[in-house]
Amino acid sequence: MDRRYRKTIIAGNWKMNITPSEAKKLTTALLPLSAVKDTSIVLCVPAIDITTVKRTLRQTRIAVGGQNCHFESKGAFTGEISPEMLIDAGAKYVIIGHSERRSMFGDTDEIVRKKIASAIAAGLRPILCVGETEEQRKQGVTEEIIRVQIKSAVYGLSADDFRKIVVAYEPIWAIGTGNTATPEDANEVCKLIRTCLRELYGARPSRSISILYGGSMNEKNAKALLAMPHIDGGLIGGASLKPDAFAAIVEASKA
Ligand code: PEP
Repeated sequence: MDRRYRKTIIAGNWKMNITPSEAKKLTTALLPLSAVKDTSIVLCVPAIDITTVKRTLRQTRIAVGGQNCHFESKGAFTGEISPEMLIDAGAKYVIIGHSERRSMFGDTDEIVRKKIASAIAAGLRPILCVGETEEQRKQGVTEEIIRVQIKSAVYGLSADDFRKIVVAYEPIWAIGTGNTATPEDANEVCKLIRTCLRELYGARPSRSISILYGGSMNEKNAKALLAMPHIDGGLIGGASLKPDAFAAIVEASKA
């Protein structure tokens, strides 16, 4: 409840799709969305696309985000990108702890915690992803998994820094599979996430944290998901690559 205290956010995750020259075209197709007032729109793009996307979006309300960062500011970390680099290139947000990073690139809960802290210190707003596997859901341990992921990610964050995070509930079995969580199930876990945040930081700070749902959200199912009281927006993978579908999801987010 208390949706009035938080932003509705629709964030696209382009993953490892879209070259810089394609990025200009896709971003240009999304420019009409800058007229949307009550929903914050974020494009989380490959790091090499950020400058192009930022330039194409200039003077619009659409924000740019990265999809990952290192927890160090600089140094001998070949191939990595620091939060400061993302900021300097024009990013405002960064996805942290996406399940693809956790499962394929070794991002543990502890690494996720360090990345969240560094991203905030650099001035970014982290979109913290949490979610259970299909097996964990079947075993009935979704609540425990989510609680551990949330608690370890924000461990040690001050109340002021905590306010800068966005959480995305992304059941792993729903990402890129076409199997969306039912609005009721997604709402239930988003509610649990807020309860967990409230236990850690109190009612007032946690009521302003936006909690998104991600996992095969598309132009057909968005309205029902976004109508749920504990879902404050969406993190969109596949459908964010199609301007019409992404625009329809933004439209569905309007109150
Ligand atoms: C994602 O990558 O965060 C995601 C939700 O992907 P999709 O919408 O394709 O399931």
